[in-house]
Amino acid sequence: MGGFRRFGVVATVILAWGPRAEGAGDSSFCQSAAHAVCSETNARQAVESVTAFNREIVFETRRTDTSLEKRIWIFEGLAYRRLGLSRNQLESFFERQRADFLEALERNPALTRSDAAAMRKTLSRVKFVTAGEYSAAGGSAEQGEVIRHCRSDGSALNAFVDPEFHAIVVCPGSISLLGSAFGVSARFERMVLHELGHFVNTDFFPSAFRSFEACVREQDDLDPTMLSEVSADYLSVEVLVLRLSRADISESGVTSELALGFSGLCNTLWGDSHPSGAYRISRTLGEHPAIRELAGCADEEPRLSCTLGGSTSP
Ligand SMILES: [Zn+2]
Repeated sequence: MGGFRRFGVVATVILAWGPRAEGAGDSSFCQSAAHAVCSETNARQAVESVTAFNREIVFETRRTDTSLEKRIWIFEGLAYRRLGLSRNQLESFFERQRADFLEALERNPALTRSDAAAMRKTLSRVKFVTAGEYSAAGGSAEQGEVIRHCRSDGSALNAFVDPEFHAIVVCPGSISLLGSAFGVSARFERMVLHELGHFVNTDFFPSAFRSFEACVREQDDLDPTMLSEVSADYLSVEVLVLRLSRADISESGVTSELALGFSGLCNTLWGDSHPSGAYRISRTLGEHPAIRELAGCADEEPRLSCTLGGSTSP
């Protein structure tokens, strides 16, 4: 897996954020974050456009009578060309996610200096590769992983990690999320931040997550196998909180940005090691005090949310 080139060009990320306005907050988000995220029209339409775009690319690649590995390459090449994107831009986009992730860790008051340093070291080794690069550098096992996570035509809006190679592998279909015309790059961001979280979550730093785990298990009686996902979600949402707090963005801008980012979790059910999407959205966004404040929710009672320090309310 070595030999992937690093590029230093700064990518332009298109964010459809409006100016901050004072208001009563997004009441539907404040009542049910999962419902608000999953019924947001813009997010749904944006994803439908990306899916239609990917379908056209799949149609093109199927015209070539060639191996899966080559079709994945062709898919990536067509996506770059049609979207006016380059591999350099993907790399810079990834570096931006890593930099903000590290900053959120540094700012986490419950993380010890030594855990923060160890996490930083782990994250600095993570490589970002496309499925085409991953299957070209690997063998049949890697190609099998690509089919499993990206579908056999590569069109899934997904990414996965290969811990052995310290790699986040992006499915070809996901590249299309970065097409500026679709306005759905927030979904790509959330996906990459979540996958970064998998490298430093409870699986690898159990002592740092002890209070977090106790809080989650007491609150929701979750199966312990789900803590891997929940802790990766927690870490990635802390990055979004940092980002949204810095941005000049309205309350409704916050909720529509979150809908774009999290719509991929809608309709996912309880499964192997994965809590349902509704649970993940409700718990990580809907109950997060800082997210609720950014969304303008007028809460009389503080919400209970699990952090590295334990619970946010007594
Ligand atoms: Zn995950």
